[in-house]
Amino acid sequence: MPTIDRILEEQARIAGIAIEELESEQSIVYLVDASLRLIYCNPAWDQFAIRNNGDGLQWNRPRGSGLLEAIATPLRPFYEEGFRKVRETGETWEHNFECSSSELYRVYHMQVRPLEATGGFIVINSLLVETPHGEDREAMPGVADLYLGQEDIVTMCSHCRRTRTSDGSQRWDWVPRYLEAPPERVSHGLCTSCVGYFYP
Ligand SMILES: [Zn+2]
Repeated sequence: MPTIDRILEEQARIAGIAIEELESEQSIVYLVDASLRLIYCNPAWDQFAIRNNGDGLQWNRPRGSGLLEAIATPLRPFYEEGFRKVRETGETWEHNFECSSSELYRVYHMQVRPLEATGGFIVINSLLVETPHGEDREAMPGVADLYLGQEDIVTMCSHCRRTRTSDGSQRWDWVPRYLEAPPERVSHGLCTSCVGYFYP
């Protein structure tokens, strides 16, 4: 079995990518192989993970692990389909997604480009918006009774990270507290507006 470093070296060489340049790139850049296993993440990835430590993000992924497993279940079909299209058409896929913290509203612009020589992909996430949350996100205190569902599971949106009320009303609230310290048992869903965004 060739080591990850060996595979990376080989893929970068074939695809004509200068890893040294990615090392100093501000955008979060990563490479995956043809089976969507992470083979390289640049330092911007790590810095992002450190800055957001405690936000419950799944960024602590060792190289060699599957990218799709790092994506919340409700969003997997969307990303699978996106990568499939890039592979099929050879065209770059562009998509904007939210990656907010409790304090900051952030939107990233994602580009997925095929590495045709290797069957892998390079993914570039550039910060598009970073601003304090607006008034449309009234911070709710996170009174447990309002959000604890069956078996004490709290359901949060995989994308905007709002929390679903457990009264069956399908209302999704902005509860910053749950981003800072995720509830013990979280289930990932998609709120009504994000469902429409990903699966129109
Ligand atoms: Zn949402």
